[in-house]
Amino acid sequence: MAEKIIMLGDARSPMPPIPAHLEPPTGLLADALARPLHDLRISVTDRCNFRCVYCMPKEVFDKDYAYLPHAALLSFEEITRIASLFVAHGVEKLRLTGGEPLLRKDLERLVGMLAALRTPSGRPLDLTLTTNGSLLAKKAQSLKDAGLNRVTVSLDALDDAIFRRMNDVDFAVADVLAGIEAAHAAGLGPIKVNMVVKAGMNDQEIIPMARHFMATPYVLRFIEYMDVGASNGWNLAEVIPSAEVVRRITAAGMPLTAIGANYTGETAARWRHASGGEIGVISSVTQAFCSDCSRARLSTEGKLFTCLFATRGHDLRALLRAGHSDAEMSAAIGALWRVRSDRYSETRTINTAGLERKVEMSYIGG
Ligand code: SAM
Ligand code: SF4
Ligand code: SF4
Repeated sequence: MAEKIIMLGDARSPMPPIPAHLEPPTGLLADALARPLHDLRISVTDRCNFRCVYCMPKEVFDKDYAYLPHAALLSFEEITRIASLFVAHGVEKLRLTGGEPLLRKDLERLVGMLAALRTPSGRPLDLTLTTNGSLLAKKAQSLKDAGLNRVTVSLDALDDAIFRRMNDVDFAVADVLAGIEAAHAAGLGPIKVNMVVKAGMNDQEIIPMARHFMATPYVLRFIEYMDVGASNGWNLAEVIPSAEVVRRITAAGMPLTAIGANYTGETAARWRHASGGEIGVISSVTQAFCSDCSRARLSTEGKLFTCLFATRGHDLRALLRAGHSDAEMSAAIGALWRVRSDRYSETRTINTAGLERKVEMSYIGG
């Protein structure tokens, strides 16, 4: 049996062991730091049509880059089966991501399958998707019809030249804005807009972006540039702390008041302007929020990562393709979560940031 395990997984991601006692899911799973499992992020592709400089720099993700072969990808049926096991363990929110999730062929079919899942008490899930917006104008209505609840759209600048430089494939701001409008018209709200702030690259866009989105129904969230993966050449000097973002917006004549979180474990701290407009800041570098982190991540090839900064995943695809039952897989997932003690962002220092070879954001999903 031991040999079979090694053959089905790989050296960095062995097949998770099946516990001797198949404890059934109770929906109340907690990890070693008493954090529940609420949120599953599912990466549906490691490919993308953008080459954002902070995520998939062109020099690394060039035409010779070894993307996953098609056979390595989880099928929609496999994704849905794994998702349903997580739902039995307490997951109430599913987020589709990537790479660029809208590049995955027939994604609406997967959305439909996931939308049919129910929590143990019979409630529908919160089903959402993060996208660069490039294909959203075309797909918003079909995604809504398939059962998607909401979208988060990434947009790093309003200035066209800066945005084209950041996505590095010459994609226009207007086309992303058209995608956001189409999503709004289709009812995929409340819509969030994510802006990664990289010093010297787009920090002059903080004020124009805040001003623009405060006058819309969309909530703009500023994300601190993170040391994910091993290819973006991350440097602490290029991080603009969220406190500085809030200070600059206030100094520009838009005073902000802190408001409470919508729910425990929310990644963004929320700030409101007197006009009713709202922004969020995601301070993954300067104010880590690991103590409430209830997120698990499933990679495109079926590896479970218990932290965005993990160096290895647990090969659930190997379990699944070896023919294990739902009860066995569920017990293995439960056992993995119970021992989870990840808190990378709380322990990160300038000296640890580059130490281990972490997985790429485009592989694991944001
Ligand atoms: N392609 C989709 C998109 O861009 O929205 C989904 C995947 S992308 C990896 C998910 C989120 O991660 C995006 O909002 C992106 O801006 C963010 N992201 C990627 N690399 C990052 C980094 N180094 N630091 C902070 N956020 C990052
Ligand atoms: Fe693609 Fe999203 Fe990464 Fe940009 S952030 S390269 S859009 S996966
Ligand atoms: Fe969660 Fe890991 Fe991010 Fe901390 S560093 S918030 S544990 S994903």
